[in-house]
Amino acid sequence: MDKVNILEVDFSNITLDEAADKMLSFLKDGKKHMIFTPNSEILYDAYKDSEFKKILNSADMNVPDGIGVVYASAINGKKLKQRVAGYDLCLNLFEKLKNGDKTIYFFGGAPKVAENAKEKIEKKYKIKIIGTSDGYFDDKKEKLIIDEINKLSPDILLVGLGAPKQEKWIYKNINNLNAKIFMGVGGSFDGFSGAVKRAPDIFIKLGLEWLYRLIKQPSRFVRMLKLPLFMLLVIKHKIKGR
Ligand code: UDP
Repeated sequence: MDKVNILEVDFSNITLDEAADKMLSFLKDGKKHMIFTPNSEILYDAYKDSEFKKILNSADMNVPDGIGVVYASAINGKKLKQRVAGYDLCLNLFEKLKNGDKTIYFFGGAPKVAENAKEKIEKKYKIKIIGTSDGYFDDKKEKLIIDEINKLSPDILLVGLGAPKQEKWIYKNINNLNAKIFMGVGGSFDGFSGAVKRAPDIFIKLGLEWLYRLIKQPSRFVRMLKLPLFMLLVIKHKIKGR
């Protein structure tokens, strides 16, 4: 797979549709696969957290979930084919799995969110979501969740605990879980359930989804301060010739 390195994290240089096809091929080879969707904020954090960076680099596929990552690749001299949002990748995959026999488990989000997401997605895509659990747990509940996932043995485990919690959780538990694909999906269940609306297409097309999210959830402001810091870091990194 063609790779592009941004701030020491390798990305697959792939379109949305190619990424979903790649996931279908991952389902066929009998191995376990990790998929992550780093955005600018996540890359900024990973640059300062070597364990997190190592985990991202151990993925079978990292896709750029954010226009900032695509801009950063252009600054570095090899522009990524396109932004591949984790949310869109899931929907594209669901479409490809329509009426099939592959099974999915939704793990993460506030209580009821994954359940509501299951209802909406099953209705729309005619796919099998065989279990759900919210993403707020102590050690005892975590063990029950792991036992349930192993009993159900889904093909695909979508984990929406936010970053870096979801990536670290997948990395720590992958060897003890019966699933083939493990993907970090951030707040996607909030979107699937309808609790949080995706930005209108025009914002997405103009690369301004971050602005829409900021207007809708001003509490994200502090997090979003990392976006310009990320760009500065990319430029600094390039000047140093690393
Ligand atoms: N979340 C969770 N458990 C936690 C912390 C967060 O399940 O301990 C969920 C939270 O409810 C939300 C998601 O993780 O659904 C994180 O969403 P956010 O918008 O921060 O992620 P992004 O899409 O920006 O990566």
